[in-house]
Amino acid sequence: MKIAIIGTGYVGLVTGTCLAEVGHRVICNDSDEMKMDVLQKGGIPIYEPYLQDLVQKNKEAGRLSFTKKFEEAIKPSEVVFICVGTPPLENGEADLSAVEMVSREIARVSDSYKLVVEKSTVPVQTGEWIEKTIRIYGPKNIEIDIASNPEFLREGSAVEDFLHPDRIVIGIQNQRAEKILRELYAPIIHRSFSCPVHKNCLSAKEMVPFIVTDINSAELIKHASNSFLAAKISFINAVADICEKTGANIRDVSYGIGLDKRIGKSFLEAGIGFGGFCFPKDLQAFIRIAEKCGYDFKLLKEVEKINVERITLVVEKIEETLWILKGKTIGIFGLAFKPNTDDIRFAPALEIIKRLLKEGALIKAYDPKAMERTKMELPEIIYCSDPYETVKNADAMVICTEWDEFKNLNFEKIKNLMKRPFILDGRNIYDKAKMLSLGFEYMSIGR
Ligand code: NAD
Repeated sequence: MKIAIIGTGYVGLVTGTCLAEVGHRVICNDSDEMKMDVLQKGGIPIYEPYLQDLVQKNKEAGRLSFTKKFEEAIKPSEVVFICVGTPPLENGEADLSAVEMVSREIARVSDSYKLVVEKSTVPVQTGEWIEKTIRIYGPKNIEIDIASNPEFLREGSAVEDFLHPDRIVIGIQNQRAEKILRELYAPIIHRSFSCPVHKNCLSAKEMVPFIVTDINSAELIKHASNSFLAAKISFINAVADICEKTGANIRDVSYGIGLDKRIGKSFLEAGIGFGGFCFPKDLQAFIRIAEKCGYDFKLLKEVEKINVERITLVVEKIEETLWILKGKTIGIFGLAFKPNTDDIRFAPALEIIKRLLKEGALIKAYDPKAMERTKMELPEIIYCSDPYETVKNADAMVICTEWDEFKNLNFEKIKNLMKRPFILDGRNIYDKAKMLSLGFEYMSIGR
């Protein structure tokens, strides 16, 4: 099928590349010309496992291309995926100006049938606005369908998640749209493609569940899913605080909870809270959506509050050990909001650094992938080339992102390099007894 991707960021690039990988012909467009230059020259503007190789492979096969011209993407395509950003406004609502602008542009250039699919995370009823906008700004006889197809990929495992989703959700208005999307996703639903990630995927027996709803329900599924996952994280973080006050161990508690199939093991890791371009903004947006409908979603307001307070908790834990932060050197391990990505949007590490800088601390930091991006936002800190340089003469080492690289370090060396061997393990990646026996002052979360 001929597909256009509008907005070639984390979601757009992964979506376009994976759809090309399963056999479609995809043209990607983005208003950021620098991004398009990088892609046209064979690079990729983000770090995501497997993505660079797949982009190159599908470009070479003639299935994937990039254009700065909107019309060039839209005109030949039957399906148009809107993948632009929907960042938070001051009041927490989603900023839909890019979605609106793309809708008007689609109206302006379309001269044949288009199925317009919203993949960006948008508030319920946005589909109705997209349709209205295209019909108002487009020619009278414009032939379009609108669909919602929320994306559930996780950064760091985005290619794998896109090709092997837990489910595919589509919200549609009619059978024509359903038929097109079923056909488009058929290789993924039936797992009938040669998987670039796992060698033995073809042996997977079960089909991927394909959920068909109305558009409003599909839009709500996305916001409700992210809000629920955020709630799980805040819940376990609150339990971790109780563990600390009572001498219980959050590791054991979450293991004991998570084995209950009704609860599940994932998203029960206590730590410094969630960040990234999805949970914080989607949670806020969902609170605002509820408010507009006349429902005060107090539960989610508390989820957000607990998460914001994690940052204060980290700073307080450091103060508890170092007493005065002014003039102290703190080594930050991990800047990305999670491992295996270079995305620093709403990353807890950055919030922690800003708070520590305010207190007068000197910050050294290391991240395997996210340092270039952070330099633009925080030019005043020292960027190090490896973990050992980061702890040299430091009064504290703070784990903010659980990169594998941090799990097996030479701790003897680290202890000798530090001015004061204090570790605050914000992601509970180390064994507490081992760290204490090695002679560290060690603090973690809920243990
Ligand atoms: P992103 O910022 O990486 O990408 C968005 C892209 O849209 C940018 O490259 C931007 O230049 C481009 N853009 C903005 N206005 C445009 C326009 N008028 N025309 C063409 N391009 C335009 O953001 P993202 O992380 O890919 O997220 C996109 C959407 O997907 C958001 O709604 C987000 O909530 C949702 N989402 C993100 C993830 C994730 O893990 N990042 C997962 C699921 C859903």
